[in-house]
Amino acid sequence: MLLPLISVFSAAAASYAGYATMAPQSQLYGRTLTHGPDPDQIALTFDDGPNDPHTLRLLDVLAQHEAKATFFLVGKYVRQRPDIVRAIVAAGHEIGNHTYSHPNLIFLPRRRVRQELEDCNKALADELGHKPVLFRPPFGGRRPAVLSVARDLGLKPVMWSVTGYDWNATSAESILTKVAPRLKSRRAEIVLLHDGGHLAFGADRSHTVEATRRLLEMYPNKRFVSISMLAGNPDKGIALKD
Ligand SMILES: [Zn+2]
Repeated sequence: MLLPLISVFSAAAASYAGYATMAPQSQLYGRTLTHGPDPDQIALTFDDGPNDPHTLRLLDVLAQHEAKATFFLVGKYVRQRPDIVRAIVAAGHEIGNHTYSHPNLIFLPRRRVRQELEDCNKALADELGHKPVLFRPPFGGRRPAVLSVARDLGLKPVMWSVTGYDWNATSAESILTKVAPRLKSRRAEIVLLHDGGHLAFGADRSHTVEATRRLLEMYPNKRFVSISMLAGNPDKGIALKD
């Protein structure tokens, strides 16, 4: 009777480990930023850019509301369209590393994880003049080796607390119904959206742009801030410890 019991426990342990690897709020494999303390703030984050034309349209929408956001960029697209990266920086937004080619890092050996992060860092440093500080793993996939490579490179992992499921959204409305109710909380939520697509450059993100415009209109009294502007900790929101 012992054997079946053991296998039940191992299955539970394995599935918990799986949860810790991919779930945005899990802290089992090391501290990652998932939200801030100030309910007057919202941190919009956009992954998988730069993208044409949706990143630039998003910059227009954000500028109309004097909102700041954070863009987690894919290195190969940075190489392809450095002009869009420069436009993001010029508009005062924050930029983070989202790897060079967007693999799921939990399946890669440590050496390849390091290469992905370093190649993206180099692409960004060529445009920014310095290496980025923030990092978001593709698909939220992480494990101890991923976080320790990130730490070696001086990168702070940033996850999210609210997702718009916009990568396959069929309307702006469908994104809003997932995001808006979650923003009435008593803390600063980090919202995951996408201005690009990891499968190919040029993904249609018009629904995300429209959903962002409506979110900004819905919350005129909230401050839309970049990740490093999240208040309430000694390093402007990005002091993380393992
Ligand atoms: Zn991504």
